[in-house]
Amino acid sequence: MNSTIPEYRRNATPFLYGQETAAVARVLEAGQYGHTEVTEEFEQKVAAFLGVREAVAVTSGTAAMHTALLAAGIGPGHKVIVPSLTFCATIQAILACGATPRFIEVNPDTLCIEPDAVAEAITPATRAVMPVLFGGRAIDLSSIRSTLDEQGIAVIEDAAHAFGSHSGPARVGNTGDLTCFSFGPVKNLTCGQGGMVIPRTPEEAATVRRLRLLGVVTSQAARQAATSYRVEGFGLRYQLSSINAAIGLTQLPRFKSTEVSRQELWRAYRAELHHTVGVTLVDVDVDHTVPHLCVVRVANREAVFRQMLAAGIAVGVHYPPNHLQPAFAQWRRSLPVTEQIGKEILSLPFHQHMTEDDVRHVASALKRAIGSGR
Ligand SMILES: *Cc1c(COP(=O)(O)O)cnc(C)c1O
Repeated sequence: MNSTIPEYRRNATPFLYGQETAAVARVLEAGQYGHTEVTEEFEQKVAAFLGVREAVAVTSGTAAMHTALLAAGIGPGHKVIVPSLTFCATIQAILACGATPRFIEVNPDTLCIEPDAVAEAITPATRAVMPVLFGGRAIDLSSIRSTLDEQGIAVIEDAAHAFGSHSGPARVGNTGDLTCFSFGPVKNLTCGQGGMVIPRTPEEAATVRRLRLLGVVTSQAARQAATSYRVEGFGLRYQLSSINAAIGLTQLPRFKSTEVSRQELWRAYRAELHHTVGVTLVDVDVDHTVPHLCVVRVANREAVFRQMLAAGIAVGVHYPPNHLQPAFAQWRRSLPVTEQIGKEILSLPFHQHMTEDDVRHVASALKRAIGSGR
């Protein structure tokens, strides 16, 4: 974009293919600002792309998780099993329903939850589990599926990182669970801001549609032709504007190139780093994943972080563990694996403007930082 600034100076940034501005101008010129048939076309195209029956668009990934949890009947008194290692949005969505988090550990190699850890955390108050598809990697809970079903525990995936990734032969969204995507600025596909719920049933789809529109059920067309409208339940202002949907609609047909370039970028990092002593690359199962992040674990993270910043490289941390956050202290428990991971993780610059030269530059700076830290 800006050729004077090296791309490794940005940890993440949106990738636009060039048609987005014209698409936004078209909806503005047509007066299609709010939720219109442009939003509905985006829902249908996403559903077709994923191979699912329905997709319901909302304003953000957080709104997707909030409405999905409500559609699954999650509320006060309920416990939701969730990794501590996620973006704070996952936890806020649980709290927004009046439910509370039960934090669990993740596997240090994948940063994803494991079926055993979920099974151990189940209590009579457990009503849902939220796997976070870290870095875009699919999570397989089939080994505890019957336990979850018997106890009426819903699986609500935080797939904010995982748009386009595969789970077995199908894309994420097809597991029969509720799946929540984010189309925020730096996600695999962007609407500027946006999110999507993949519901399990037509009833859940209707509930999310009602929740996103202030509890009003009547269609836009019917409302314009009537003197009243029906408020049928609780609701929020979560519908996706056509302005945002238009951005997503132009990105979607070009997604194959997103998939390929993100995989190539991740493989380039792996080629540079997988023999490096002192650096552990967090595996994303790249052949099945549209990678969202490139995370390494290093022993001396604080020093390495500072040295990388000093070298002009935009490193980050995804994420500071939530059970250590002041807002969530009430649900804090000892999670030694996550606490150790939290001290070691470092996210390298990862976005589609980067070239293999940028990757080599980052990798050699990392090797220097590790070497001088020992
Ligand atoms: C981005 C993100 C979210 C929230 O999505 P928004 O669209 O920003 O609301 C939730 N969980 C994870 C893991 C994310 O990366």
